[in-house]
Amino acid sequence: MDDWEGPIDTGSIPEDGSSFDVIVVGGGPSGSAAASYNALNGCKVLLIEKEVWPRDKICGDAVGGKSLSHVKELGVKEMVEKTPHFMVDSIVFGSANGNTVQVMLPQDEFEKKMAGYSLPRMQFDYMMFKRATEIVTEAGGSVIQGFNVKEVLDNEGAIVGVSGSFGKRSSESPTMSFTAPLTIGAGGYRCPVATKLVEGVHSEPMRDDDHYCGGYREYWENVGGFDGSRGPIEIHFIDEVIPGYFWLFPVKEGVVNVGIGMVISEQRKQKGADKSLKKKQRWVIENHPVFRERFKEARIVEGSQKGWQLPFGSPRKSPPSYQPRRSAGAGVMCVGDAASLVDPFSGEGIGNGLVSAKMTSRWYFDKDNHSGGFPEEEAVAYMEDLWGTLGKELTNSHRLQKVVKWKKLMNWFVGKASRKEEMGDMLTGMIADKEAQKALWSPWFLFKTILLP
Ligand SMILES: Cc1cc2nc3c(=O)[nH]c(=O)nc-3n(C[C@H](O)[C@H](O)[C@H](O)COP(=O)(O)OP(=O)(O)OC[C@H]3O[C@@H](n4cnc5c(N)ncnc54)[C@H](O)[C@@H]3O)c2cc1C
Repeated sequence: MDDWEGPIDTGSIPEDGSSFDVIVVGGGPSGSAAASYNALNGCKVLLIEKEVWPRDKICGDAVGGKSLSHVKELGVKEMVEKTPHFMVDSIVFGSANGNTVQVMLPQDEFEKKMAGYSLPRMQFDYMMFKRATEIVTEAGGSVIQGFNVKEVLDNEGAIVGVSGSFGKRSSESPTMSFTAPLTIGAGGYRCPVATKLVEGVHSEPMRDDDHYCGGYREYWENVGGFDGSRGPIEIHFIDEVIPGYFWLFPVKEGVVNVGIGMVISEQRKQKGADKSLKKKQRWVIENHPVFRERFKEARIVEGSQKGWQLPFGSPRKSPPSYQPRRSAGAGVMCVGDAASLVDPFSGEGIGNGLVSAKMTSRWYFDKDNHSGGFPEEEAVAYMEDLWGTLGKELTNSHRLQKVVKWKKLMNWFVGKASRKEEMGDMLTGMIADKEAQKALWSPWFLFKTILLP
C-alpha cells in the first residue's frame, strides 16, 4: 500500500465540551495548513474533518509555485515527491481557432523544483492532512475525522465554538461541542463557519453567481499528446466552451485530469443541454476535430465524473463590507474557499488557501492575549491584510477572465504570442509573478508588444 492509501490514525477523540486555543473546521489543504501553522505557533488546536481519509476532492489537481513554499515549509514536499506526480514545466493556451502558445515556466524555478506539480487531490490532501495530524498532536492538540460540524456556536455575535456529530446522519452518534477563542473556517465553498459569519452574524450575501464558477472533472487514461511525467498542462478557450474553458492536466504518467469550468451566471445563460458542463465535455471529446483525435485511444476512469464549485476572489461591484467578501469577525477567521479566494482566471485556489492559512497564525492570533476571544479589531486587520496581499492579483485575474470571452481578440492574441518571443516571455512572467499581470494593462506594453509588428 502506498503512503497515501491507508487509513490515517488521528488518535483519541477529545471529550465532549473540551476547550482549545484554535478550532479548525475542514481538513482540506487550507484547513490542514491553518491547523499546522497555528500548532507550530504553540497553540492547542482541534482540527475537524467531515470525511474519512483517503477522500477525493474535485479539482484540476495543479499545485502551483505559490503553494510550494508552504508545502515545503510544512514538510509535505518530500512526501509529494515520493508518490506518483507530474512536474509542470509549461502551460499551453489554445484559442477558439486552434492556435496554441506554450508558455514556459521560469527554468530556474523548474530546476529548483519550485515551478509546480499536478497530482490527484486524493494524494495531495492526504499528505497535507497526515502531516497536520502529526504537527497538531505533537503540540498537544487533537484531530478528528468523520465528524460533521452542523452548528457554529456564538455569544452575542462572537463565534465561540462548534458542535456536530460523527457520521453523515445526526442519528448515528450523539452531538458533541467544542469551544475556543478562535475558530477558523476552512470548510470549502459551503463552509458552515463562513455561512454563520457572513449570513448569520452579518446578514451579508454568501454567494454571488457572477463570482462563483461551476467545474466538472473526469480522469482519462491514454490521452494523445502526453508522454512521461514532466511537461505542459493545457488550457483551451475553444468555441463550444467559451465563456468557460477546457483543461487537460496530466497528473501522473498515463493519467490526465480533464475538465471544464464556467462562471455560474454565464452557465445559466447557455441554452438547453448546453447548460450541462458534463454534456459539453462529452461533445468536445467526441466531436471537436482536435480533441476527438487525441481521445481516440483514451479510456475514462469510471467513477471520476464529478462536479463542484469554485468561489472566486474577484472583487464584487458593491461589496456590503470587505472584498471579496467578509472573511473574519469576533472569534473567527476564514481561509481558502471559505473566504472565496480562488483565482478567477486560472481557477487556482490551493495557493491562496495556503497563504491565508499562514496569515491566521503569524500576524493575528495570539493565544495569550486573545484567550478571552479573538477580537473584532484583529479580524478587521486580517481582512484588510488579506485583500492588501491578494487584491491586486485577484483584480488583474478578473480582468483577464473577462478578456478571454472575446473570441476574436483571443484568437489574434494567442496567434501573435505563438510567433512573437517577447510576448511568450511576458506571459511566462505573468504566470510566475501575478504582479507582472499589471504589465498587460500598461499602455506602453500594449503599444510595444501588440501594436508593433
Ligand atoms: C473543478 C475544479 C478545478 C480546480 N482546479 C484547481 C487547480 O488545478 N489548482 C488549484 O490550486 N485549485 C483548483 N481548484 C480550486 C481548489 O480545489 C480549491 O480552491 C481548494 O480545494 C481549496 O481548499 P480548501 O482547503 O479551502 O477547501 P476544500 O478543499 O474544499 O476543503 C474543505 C474541507 O472541509 C471539509 N468540510 C466541509 N464541511 C465540513 C463540515 N461541516 N464539518 C467538517 N468538515 C467539513 C470538507 O470535507 C473538505 O475536506 C479547482 C476547483 C474545482 C471545483
